[in-house]
Amino acid sequence: MTTTTTPRKDTRRKPDPKCPLRPGEPCTLCQASVTGPQDCGLVYLIMDDPEAREAWAASRRR
Ligand code: SF4
Repeated sequence: MTTTTTPRKDTRRKPDPKCPLRPGEPCTLCQASVTGPQDCGLVYLIMDDPEAREAWAASRRR
């Protein structure tokens, strides 16, 4: 018996990195020269500065 395999379309998607500043939303590469959240200067600035992080958290509570 011969089995044939039909080529399956590759339905795998690339990882969809989420924006840490907009929970639940994907990174849209809104900052210049970034490849994702991992090298996003805005994410770095906010997360690295306790005051900015608190202000960001407060803005999300409103
Ligand atoms: S580039 Fe930075 S701020 Fe813009 S969506 Fe991506 S992670 Fe968020």
